[in-house]
Amino acid sequence: IIFDPNIFPIGTGIDEHKNYAVDFIDTCTWIRDNLPHAKVSGGVSNVSFSFRGNNVLREAIHSVFLYHAIRAGLSMGIVNAGQLGIYAEIPRILRERVEDLVLNRREDATERLLAIAEDYVGEGNTRTQVNPAWREASVRDRLSHALVQGITEFIIADTEEARLAVEHPIEVIEGPLMDGMNVVGDLFGAGKMFLPQVVKSARVMKQAVSHLEPFIEAEKGSGRKFKGKIVMATVKGDVHDIGKNIVAVVLQCNNFEVVDLGVMVPMDTILSTARELQADMIGLSGLITPSLDEMVHVAANMQSQGFDIPLLIGGATTSKAHTAVKIEPAYDKGPTLYVTDASRSVSVVTRLVSRKQRSGLIEATRCEYMAVRERVIQRAEKREFLSITAARSNKVDIRWGGYQPPVPENLGVQALNKLPLETLIPYIDWTPFFRTWELAGKYPKILDDTVVGESARSLFADAKEMLATLVRDGRLEAHGVFGLWPCNREGDDDLVLYADENRDRPIAHLHHLRQQTPKPEGKHNFCLADFVAPRGTADYLGGFAVTAGVGIQSILADYQDDDYSSIMIKALADRLAEAFAEYLHQQVRHTHWGYAAQESLDTEALIREDYGGIRPAPGYPACPDHSEKQKLFQLLDIERKAHIRLTEQFAMLPAAAVSGWYFSHPDARYFGVGKIDRDQLEDYAARKRVSISVAEDWVRPNL
Ligand code: SAH
Repeated sequence: IIFDPNIFPIGTGIDEHKNYAVDFIDTCTWIRDNLPHAKVSGGVSNVSFSFRGNNVLREAIHSVFLYHAIRAGLSMGIVNAGQLGIYAEIPRILRERVEDLVLNRREDATERLLAIAEDYVGEGNTRTQVNPAWREASVRDRLSHALVQGITEFIIADTEEARLAVEHPIEVIEGPLMDGMNVVGDLFGAGKMFLPQVVKSARVMKQAVSHLEPFIEAEKGSGRKFKGKIVMATVKGDVHDIGKNIVAVVLQCNNFEVVDLGVMVPMDTILSTARELQADMIGLSGLITPSLDEMVHVAANMQSQGFDIPLLIGGATTSKAHTAVKIEPAYDKGPTLYVTDASRSVSVVTRLVSRKQRSGLIEATRCEYMAVRERVIQRAEKREFLSITAARSNKVDIRWGGYQPPVPENLGVQALNKLPLETLIPYIDWTPFFRTWELAGKYPKILDDTVVGESARSLFADAKEMLATLVRDGRLEAHGVFGLWPCNREGDDDLVLYADENRDRPIAHLHHLRQQTPKPEGKHNFCLADFVAPRGTADYLGGFAVTAGVGIQSILADYQDDDYSSIMIKALADRLAEAFAEYLHQQVRHTHWGYAAQESLDTEALIREDYGGIRPAPGYPACPDHSEKQKLFQLLDIERKAHIRLTEQFAMLPAAAVSGWYFSHPDARYFGVGKIDRDQLEDYAARKRVSISVAEDWVRPNL
């Protein structure tokens, strides 16, 4: 049954009409609360009938009205889809005044809205104000304004106008465009502008430059002068490049020439390109732990091939300590520098090409890293370990006797193909999204933050819009697969999965590592295997892999000259993949394993992990050995069923992918294995039936 309550116009000047929108919204609430299985429809456009002729206002009223009505239970509505803005994108003042009107918050709401209506006359599409005042300024100022504000709309026309006024086209770049970017750089350096805006500015710059390039080429011999040339790459076996791309953009807008070799780049390619192009420095990026070793490998080869240019290191698992202890000693002919984040990269790179500041920075870094190395070595010498036997006897002490592990409703493997992206949106954890763009703070509070709030709101509005585009476009596909198997602990630290309940046909042996540092009284030496019952109790384990990145390459191809949108798309695909992991875990608890059928948690509670059980990911601190992912991939036939493949270093491709194991025990928790001793390494190698040196490769960060 669908109810279609009337929607009457507001803002008519008649007092009785003032509450019509609120009445409708209250009606939705009533229907939802009292008739939970019924749906509610509405003829939305009618609400703004008295604002005919001002489509911008009408759009804003529709968006605000829909926003509130949908939250109150509206399930469908009739509205001119071309006359619909995005709630978060409506300019603040306009939105507030429209909200006053729709929600009947002020007596004078209509008057106050009409008072600013003039500013928003236009064809519609809330974002374009007709002939904004800045268009009256000189071409120089217009270029600067467009760069600082990140507005691409008039950039080609303005650039062309500037070109016609100079003798050589290069002067436009070296004059007004560089001046504009310098303003951006200064604002960024002073903390008055944030990364998303800088990336937007860079997009404007890129469009201007690509308009000028053919003219510059036609002149020949008057090429652009850069401050320096940097060859950048995500190392072999790794596929993650959001951070690297952001660094590239930021450096480019500071007038550095960046040669970006992409992802999974072999050492030889990086070094031969750097030599051929006479690069001033090399930047390496990586996210997964095996990339740490690969970076050492690149550094050692720079040494043996006689390089002496600076080597810059960045990415999620890299650190100052790792750079100082492992990378720098492999390449002492040249400086090695760890760069914390994109914001920091500009100042480091700028100093490295400055004749005055270069040697100071290099010396200071060398001294600092020497101190770091000493500290790390001292700490390592003082480190105490329990023997692996002693650590095992301090395992998590679960009394399996009185405990009945939950029995899954459905054993075996199931795939979820082309899951609608809309399903995943409510499960998105937005906080890491802002962190990707180097905006610090928790969502949703970040939107009101006094420092980054404005930036965050604008970024969030762009994200919502891109998300809507991705949903509509349909090319980005989400695929997932999961399985549940009978499982028991084998020995102390291993798990065995069985084909069926008879538990006589093992289909996989999983190997785990145990914390080996001494614990205070009452604390345990954790190993994931502790959370599964030994033989004699029927216990189970799950595994899963999800992606929201299938098809992303074809979408990115549409945005080749638009770094802002490309980075946005990748960041959103990552969020959707994590949301998929959250969603699937919930489905498994509710239905397939079914041990928490009654659980009802909102997104915040899910993000807080207020549920029973965990989904540790191979390669992460509780199970740091990436190579165990191979078993997961075989068990679930992930490549075929979910279209995710593993690189030679066990990174997942598409990059927007998550995989892990499901543990159901209520005491199961995340932890870090931390450093381990040789005895455990040897034991682990024997259990995995590999040589010690192979095992060493997989657990190197824990040694
Ligand atoms: N809401 C976050 C969730 C990802 S981080 C987001 O959207 O980004 C949390 C996930 O990382 C966990 O679900 C688990 O899969 C993994 N994880 C966290 N700590 C871990 C640990 N110590 N060992 C193994 N996996 C871990």
